[in-house]
Amino acid sequence: MKLLDGKWLASQVQRTLSQKIDHECAKGPRKPGLGVILVGENPASLSYVKRKEKVAEKTGFRTFDTRLASDVTFEDVASAIDRYNQDPNVDGILLQLPLPSHLDSNTLLDRIRPDKDADGLHPVNQGLLMRGEGVLRPCTPKGTLKLLDLALSDRMAEGDLDNLEKDLPAVDLSGKSALVVGRSILVGKPVALLLLERNATVTLAHSRTENLKELVAGSDIVVAAVGKPHMIPGDWVREGTIVLDVGINRLEDGTLTGDVDFESARKRAAAITPAPGGVGPMTVAMLLENTFFAYQQHLQSERHP
Ligand code: NAP
Repeated sequence: MKLLDGKWLASQVQRTLSQKIDHECAKGPRKPGLGVILVGENPASLSYVKRKEKVAEKTGFRTFDTRLASDVTFEDVASAIDRYNQDPNVDGILLQLPLPSHLDSNTLLDRIRPDKDADGLHPVNQGLLMRGEGVLRPCTPKGTLKLLDLALSDRMAEGDLDNLEKDLPAVDLSGKSALVVGRSILVGKPVALLLLERNATVTLAHSRTENLKELVAGSDIVVAAVGKPHMIPGDWVREGTIVLDVGINRLEDGTLTGDVDFESARKRAAAITPAPGGVGPMTVAMLLENTFFAYQQHLQSERHP
């Protein structure tokens, strides 16, 4: 069984990005910039934002931070987005979700310039994904697919990936059956599109699906993105399956766990992500990768206006 260590893979991605940033900055231009907007004091959001900013700075990004009170108006959040949209030092914008209920997340996400959409959630980028185009793809789905590449790579011993792009190619999934459980716009649907792009035969399950157990048992790849602790028991998983657990659930005792019963599933899976420590760190790494892609595009248009 391969344990798909997202912390380790994320550190490899960040190391590669760091080297690329050093290479670009040696030619003189500014650092890539990530603009963060946090509304309110939700403790989970606060800790996610702190972590994202810390990792971004360690990797070589410049971060910009806007904190707004939870009773802020729609117009104030829109102005904060507009400021980042116009700031040439900001390449990627992160509007931390969820927003307080009086603010319409979708309308605010739509206001972010598509070329600065670090989260890949703008309708333009979602539309490009649907067409199999574009580079700013949603972070959690992108990170999930990188872990799948790691599962299918024979170069996965720790420290064995010196050049991530060369050593961890995007694997073709022709002939493989993939089940995605959960159909949110943030995770399930884009994961399904990314798997389809790699030629997997994809099934998308949701709360109205009736034969989930059989679908899990019949799949080569299972992606769980539901938000219900251990809703997929290990004995549903057939021998040799690759299990990618996106779920992050807080139990009553405060511990975090995934949607899959890890301890029983690991005995049957060919490869499995821990949760936490699997997809979560990859989401942060992909946010930085997207911001770096946006930076490269911005540098190009600054050099050749
Ligand atoms: P969401 O918007 O609540 O969507 C949950 C999905 O699960 C829905 O499509 C729902 O179906 C489906 N579902 C609910 N009960 C089900 C059941 N019994 N059987 C099959 N499907 C069922 O959640 P999300 O934003 O996609 O997040 C999913 C999980 O991933 C959460 O635990 C979240 O914390 C985690 N997450 C992790 C990361 C990370 O970085 N690791 C990032 C984002 C999210 P319907 O559409 O029919 O309601």
